[in-house]
Amino acid sequence: MGDEDERGLRRTRARIPAGMKVRIDDRYCIACGLCREVCPDRAVHPRLQDVHHRFEVLPQECTGCALCLDYCPAPGALVQYDGAQA
Ligand code: SF4
Ligand code: SF4
Repeated sequence: MGDEDERGLRRTRARIPAGMKVRIDDRYCIACGLCREVCPDRAVHPRLQDVHHRFEVLPQECTGCALCLDYCPAPGALVQYDGAQA
């Protein structure tokens, strides 16, 4: 059972370690936009030049909170990585 953020969105995953971030793997993303809807830091942006209307996570805005991972319907589309190693 998770806790809720200020908008009532329920988190089910444990918080990930400090410094971790999330990126989108285009091979699996179905461009549903849910990660953009739930991201509390507005780190997910549409790729304006992409004909498939996919999204990208701006590393400088992603806090690694992992909330998006709770909502993404496409396994493998959101990938955690160590921001310090990037
Ligand atoms: S990990 Fe958090 S801050 Fe980063 S894109 Fe996902 S919801 Fe947004
Ligand atoms: S929630 Fe997952 S499938 Fe939907 S746009 Fe974001 S990464 Fe792609």
